[in-house]
Amino acid sequence: MSGPIDKALRRRAEAVIPGGMYGHQSVGLLPDDYPQFFTGGEGAHLTDADGRRYLDLMCAYGPNLFGYAHPGIDAAYVRQLEKGDALTGPTALMVELAEAMVAMVGHADWAMFCKNGTDATTMAMMTARAHTGKQGLVLARGAYHGAAPWCTPRPSGVIASDKAHQHLCAYNDIASLEAAVAAAGDDLAAIFAAPFRHDAFIDQAAPDLAYARRARELADARGALLVVDDVRAGLRVARDCSWSAIGVAPDLSTWGKCIANGHPISALLGADKARKAAASIYVTGSFWFAGAAMAAGLETLRLVRDTDYLERIQALGETLRTGLAERASAAGFGFRQTGPAVMPLFLFDDDPDLRKGFAWSSAMLARGVYVHPWHNMFLCAAMTEADIATALDAAEAAFADLKRNAASLGPVEKLAFLAAR
Ligand SMILES: *Cc1c(COP(=O)(O)O)cnc(C)c1O
Repeated sequence: MSGPIDKALRRRAEAVIPGGMYGHQSVGLLPDDYPQFFTGGEGAHLTDADGRRYLDLMCAYGPNLFGYAHPGIDAAYVRQLEKGDALTGPTALMVELAEAMVAMVGHADWAMFCKNGTDATTMAMMTARAHTGKQGLVLARGAYHGAAPWCTPRPSGVIASDKAHQHLCAYNDIASLEAAVAAAGDDLAAIFAAPFRHDAFIDQAAPDLAYARRARELADARGALLVVDDVRAGLRVARDCSWSAIGVAPDLSTWGKCIANGHPISALLGADKARKAAASIYVTGSFWFAGAAMAAGLETLRLVRDTDYLERIQALGETLRTGLAERASAAGFGFRQTGPAVMPLFLFDDDPDLRKGFAWSSAMLARGVYVHPWHNMFLCAAMTEADIATALDAAEAAFADLKRNAASLGPVEKLAFLAAR
């Protein structure tokens, strides 16, 4: 189980926080030894409430790109905090940040800022509906676009009309994309696409070029907008929209998570075509124009432009991937590493209820490496070759543990629903 301080915090949380924790920060679907609470992070490392330090391959589920408590980015944040954060109006930083994002992202002519990725994806939906006067959305089944009623993955508290006018397709499946567009008939506002398939519990998949091009064509043919939801992958796989790598430009893209290295800001970026519609929707928030996160965003973008962070995390990711593949196969495990090497997801062959994945992840955690058994992970620019070597040593020992114990592993009860899918 998690440490004594973590356990005590969980008990107290249960009294004053519904369910003790909610959403993706709940450790309900992680192995029992995973901590829920932390005291801090530094670079690529994380310290839990019981003082245990981990090399963190989750990177806060995305926000950590340059390292926790990054001195330069946090100094920019604090400088603006000291001058004033949420004011009666925005600072010049808002204009500077919009200029910086538009300069960086090829398809974009304008930017609007908000706080969470869900704000940005919801604004994308509203902009598309305002632009087209239509209601229909084509979404890939299982793709995550946030936690508002129209996109939250769980049914509780959601009514049928929240999810009306949605036509689901299978990612990378052109026939199913065409069928979903056909089902929308002449009522199509937007086709949403993840930059690659990064759904939980299943192998990740690169975007098929033909699928991405067909999505572009279908959107154009219907006068609908194409949206790439880059909230999770943005800036981790390219210094541009993630689909720039395959040469398909969306009309709208959504950004969040790491664009200010963990400070709260997200963005909707768009092409001129959608500018009038974006100006017409009423969207705002008390904290959306606060300057400190914008200052952090500008410094993050400067590092994105001026450093080789991307090439470095890609090289580290490849070293990790190759080393893990060697160690898994030496131990006799089919171990699938999918998605970009900088955003890997690990699943074991012949592991329908993830009992191997849980046991291996726990063995990694016990050796000071925080991995996730069913969600994609993230590399950050604070990681070093020595960190990757540490992860590989831990993995070798964890595979050996698993080999010893594999036959005696029981079912993971909390994941019983997976077998039923
Ligand atoms: C995390 C995420 C969101 C939602 O962002 P929040 O900041 O959690 O609201 C939307 N889309 C994708 C692809 C995400 O990964």
